[in-house]
Amino acid sequence: MIGVVAYPGDYVLVREFFELFKTPWEFYRSEEQYEVLLCAREDVSVLGASAKLVVVYAGQETLLDEVDKIEITSHRKRGALSYKGGRLPIYGNHITFLTKGISLLKDEESQQAVGSLVKSGSKVVARIGYDLFQEIRVLLTDGQPPENAGIPTLELHIAVLRDLIVDSDVPLVEIPPIPEGHTFIACLTHDVDHPSIRQHKWDPTMFGFLYRAVIGSILGVLKGRVPVRHLCTNWAAVARLPFIYLGIAKDIWYEFDRYLAIEKDVDSTFFALPFKNKPGRLASGLAPRSRASGYGAADIAERLQTFVSAGREIGLHGIDAWIDSAKGQEEMAQITNITGGQNIGVRMHWLYFDDHSPLTLEKAGFSYDSTVGYNQTIGYRTGTAQVYKPLQTTSLLELPLHVMDTALFYPDYLNLTFEEADRRIGDIVNYARQFGGAVTFNWHDRSIAPERLWGEFYAGLICELKRKGAWCSSAGSVVSWFQYRRSVVFKRAGHGLEVARTKMDIASGKNVPGLRLRVYNLGKACENSSQRYADSTLNGDMIISPDSSLVIHN
Ligand SMILES: [Zn+2]
Repeated sequence: MIGVVAYPGDYVLVREFFELFKTPWEFYRSEEQYEVLLCAREDVSVLGASAKLVVVYAGQETLLDEVDKIEITSHRKRGALSYKGGRLPIYGNHITFLTKGISLLKDEESQQAVGSLVKSGSKVVARIGYDLFQEIRVLLTDGQPPENAGIPTLELHIAVLRDLIVDSDVPLVEIPPIPEGHTFIACLTHDVDHPSIRQHKWDPTMFGFLYRAVIGSILGVLKGRVPVRHLCTNWAAVARLPFIYLGIAKDIWYEFDRYLAIEKDVDSTFFALPFKNKPGRLASGLAPRSRASGYGAADIAERLQTFVSAGREIGLHGIDAWIDSAKGQEEMAQITNITGGQNIGVRMHWLYFDDHSPLTLEKAGFSYDSTVGYNQTIGYRTGTAQVYKPLQTTSLLELPLHVMDTALFYPDYLNLTFEEADRRIGDIVNYARQFGGAVTFNWHDRSIAPERLWGEFYAGLICELKRKGAWCSSAGSVVSWFQYRRSVVFKRAGHGLEVARTKMDIASGKNVPGLRLRVYNLGKACENSSQRYADSTLNGDMIISPDSSLVIHN
């Protein structure tokens, strides 16, 4: 059990941090015993506590440093630390100091210690020179700048603490964000922005299509970025265009039900726009005219119902829901009237969002949001691939977005070749295999059609995700799995630990994989493990006894 000493203003951050690092903890009580004491508040009185490991986090000099005779060498704001060969960005204050112990974390610029470990007898004291919970606050509110998008910073903060505990030979129990039977989660989603080219006659979308299909394809072939067969397909699509407008040829963009074949044995979510010709608004006035869509959900009702019959999830691709709860309810009703769903999830069109949006969306009745990501790049805006609860909300969860097709391939954004895109996605998948979590993909409806033709790449991606052991599923199911994980509580049971599930209300009977219980440094359970931990399936409530490694089922 970790005892946490923190400022009351940070309690909300502490609680969320320990939903993501799902391990037994409680706010420090002087009458209790703890294996680990996490001290994020200046409080000398806890120094006498008998914990085996004491971790002190502070981005400035504290009274504890005087007691421990730690000499501060510099005060810094923003920067990056080196941790086990990788980079850990820091967004608030941090200090460097002279350490008498082992240096754990170094300031990248000065190479001086920002984290150190001092062992005295059976007790270990770790001094970490930044404010953990302030870093979590920045990540979950402002998020990371695009230049740090590739770094799962929040997961690294969890890893630093986990490593400290495990390396100090303290037993640790956690429920990792990895579903039973899989190595990580891949969440498959589609924003439906342009489901019909027929809706775009003589407008910028049509001219853009013509330019990219005719000229862009040639340039792409000349540069070796586009296969010749794609050029042929695109030119054939252009030749068909007059017949599509006359209604005698099939609409090339209305065939996005081909996703059902590409994703034949996995689940996915389609986010549909509620109303046509509405650009929506910004806090300061109308949104750009070009944000308005040529379709509304009613125009593709038949297709949406096909998806529902095929077991797919339909969410709202919101226009004004992010800024106005009443509008959010109207937009939601427009979708649920067609699909028969309720308490659906949402992703905003063009990823419009502000600090108030989580609460605005919760008030409108959405169960989750999946807007928090980048338009221009791929990666971790909030430093995590885990579903989390925004600080202001009580029930609405955020499923962060990581990989959007347009960010990968648009000339104005990353402008990657297919090989480069494979590598960049591979980096994110590797992190997911290391830390767990859900990598959320957004492949737009028309991306499998001319002129983009990114369907083959997407089909290959799904195969690769499955080959690497991913649970590929819809946004709603992935959020349900994280709700399930959040429902587990750890309680003291004598000198042992009880792992109990408070509620089993998986939304609408969704069939989600189970949870796994991971133990480190727990005698027999870890003895035969080649790794540092042993996993078992969390079947019903469990008691972990203090004197042996046995996990006993109730
Ligand atoms: Zn959109």
